[in-house]
Amino acid sequence: MPAWAHITFNWKIVLEICILWLVLYQIMLFLKDTKAVNLLRGIIILIVAFFIFQKLGLDILNWILAKIFAISIIALFVIFQPELRQGLTRLGQHQIFYFGPKEEEIESLIKEVISAAGVLSKKNIGALIAIQREVGLKDYIESGLIIDAEISSELLQSIFNPNSPLHDGGVIISNNRIMAVTCLFPLSENPDIDRALGMRHRAAVGLSERTDAAVLVVSEETGRISLAVNGRLTRKLNREDLALILRGLFRKEKKKRR
Ligand code: ATP
Ligand code: MG
Repeated sequence: MPAWAHITFNWKIVLEICILWLVLYQIMLFLKDTKAVNLLRGIIILIVAFFIFQKLGLDILNWILAKIFAISIIALFVIFQPELRQGLTRLGQHQIFYFGPKEEEIESLIKEVISAAGVLSKKNIGALIAIQREVGLKDYIESGLIIDAEISSELLQSIFNPNSPLHDGGVIISNNRIMAVTCLFPLSENPDIDRALGMRHRAAVGLSERTDAAVLVVSEETGRISLAVNGRLTRKLNREDLALILRGLFRKEKKKRR
């Protein structure tokens, strides 16, 4: 009798496989175009092979696979170290007693920031402004000069004026205040960012990868306004679109807290 003869048809197993398959397929769709998807494929192949070997009673292959499994767990931590670090810092930086800005504060913040971005864009003056959301930006604030000033379009314009000694680096808006200027943001290592874009844009994307901040960029070269959120850069925004996106981001955050 061949080794597989005792594998009898069982509708429960078929159902389980179907459900598992559906779940895995959804996860794959979600992870599409990320490096995680290749890893997931590898893990699935290993698991399937593991079950087949076990059913067929191939003990040596099974033993080898079990060892590979153990090694892959370590490999997982190494390969996804940047993602894990990002996730853990986000988790660690969540502010417990922070209730977020009031509705009128959000509106005023958006108004002043957009007004400044509009003026700077027209004059082709480069700017980089991070607006804190839930994740605290303490480390990045400390990389710059703390000014803790009321938000105003005029102040933002004068900070980024090329003659200002404070124009280099990024501004951080936190708890509805211009908290710091000349801040250093982490550069993104994402290879998909347009090569035409330089450090300012990479710094915006970089900060938005590591935190949930909304990071606005005005390009000195083109005057174009872009916004980086969650590692994605939306380019060539006009003032209306920018207002819409920012309102969406901050309103959603408020709803989430309720
Ligand atoms: P632009 O379209 O405005 O030229 P860019 O994306 O091409 O933008 P660069 O020309 O490289 O960027 O801009 C350089 C400026 O970006 C620097 O003068 C500095 O103010 C800012 N910058 C560069 N790196 C960082 C960083 N890590 N954190 C904050 N600001 C930075
Ligand atoms: Mg440039």
